Amino acid sequence: MMLQPRVSKPPIIGLIILLSSFAFAQSSAVTAIKCGRLINPADGSVTQNVIIIVRGDRIEQVGTSVSIPAGARVVDLSAYTVLPGLIDCHTHVLLQPEDERGAPPVVTKSQAFRTVQGVAAAKRDLEAGFTTMRDLDSEGAGFADVAIRDGINRGIIPGPRLLVSTYALTITGGHMNNAGLNPDIPVPEPATLTDSRDAMIAEIRREVKYGADWIKLYATGTLRHVDPVTLESLSQVSLEDVKAVVAEAARWRRDVAAHAYGGDGAKNAIRGGVRSIEHGMLMDDEALKLLVDHGTFWCPTLSVYLPESPEDDTELRRRIVARHKEVFQKAMKMGVKICFGTDVGAFEHGTSSREFVRMVEYGMKPIDAIRSATIRGAELLRMEKQIGSIQTGKLADIIAVEGDPLSDIKAITKVTFVMKSGKVYKESR
Ligand SMILES: [Zn+2]
Repeated sequence: MMLQPRVSKPPIIGLIILLSSFAFAQSSAVTAIKCGRLINPADGSVTQNVIIIVRGDRIEQVGTSVSIPAGARVVDLSAYTVLPGLIDCHTHVLLQPEDERGAPPVVTKSQAFRTVQGVAAAKRDLEAGFTTMRDLDSEGAGFADVAIRDGINRGIIPGPRLLVSTYALTITGGHMNNAGLNPDIPVPEPATLTDSRDAMIAEIRREVKYGADWIKLYATGTLRHVDPVTLESLSQVSLEDVKAVVAEAARWRRDVAAHAYGGDGAKNAIRGGVRSIEHGMLMDDEALKLLVDHGTFWCPTLSVYLPESPEDDTELRRRIVARHKEVFQKAMKMGVKICFGTDVGAFEHGTSSREFVRMVEYGMKPIDAIRSATIRGAELLRMEKQIGSIQTGKLADIIAVEGDPLSDIKAITKVTFVMKSGKVYKESR
């Protein structure tokens, strides 16, 4: 059937004008935030009685002698410490702690159910102060991370700004393979098995096509692949493999994050040009030096390796945790670019800030721990012009905590206010 030619345009134009003026009103809403103390991670300064003016999704002014525009909504945080929104560079919204026990979720749960859980997880992480997260592997939940990211960006559900990696690249028998199942029953794997360079390249193209922002590569195996005597990890990639992966990702303007415990896998990943090494607790001095020389970021994810149950509390685990601490302390001394990353999902969403406490226990200064989750995270994500500090022109990602995290880092776990892109998501004062 032919549509009737439209004879009267004005009502539609009128509607467009009405909608765009509504959008303008929304984007130009002004909020004035009165801060008791404001921490600036860029220079480590703490300023009392600062006022932040937020217009739309951006920070318009920051200072002690800023006047509040007429009609602005005033948020009084004068009893709190205000910080930039936090950035967790290693998360799994589609993973829940229960998935770490028993059969993997790719076997026991539908992708739809995992997505429902992921929606709730994203909200909890945002309310804990994390306004941006790099989500590293859906662990077999397909492209549900893309859906959650897009749902958040479109304002359908609350959550951090997500950068997602969809499936991770692994090898047959390596990390993120189902183990202990009947080989004659076809079961989806939690990661994509890419046993040749061609397969790796094809998988990157598929992931980018369906929405990946980052490429995740398993450059070594996991705990079950670690030699219990030498603590050598299983290398899953050659230098040439990594170079091919990084080059293909770069074609699509994507970066690569490599899960690597240590050994040749970690060194190949660094030399091959990945942007960040994840975990890295078994790296030797040569690997740490390579991190410094190549300017590669390191997300240590310290807390997730602590035994959470008596069964986990093995001698091997205790040795690995001790090595992790040693490597972290050496890396700090050597000037490695340490970035805040937690592996949240393997433990309760909304509790990622426990990692700050661990970092400080291991000898990092509280301001450096805060930097790792703000300006340094922004740099790793190549978003330093948008996020990571409270500065004029940046996105208004602002949180407030009870107490002073510079004198007691645990204060950062007590988040009372969360604003992301100028919108308030938590106000529990
Ligand atoms: Zn992880």
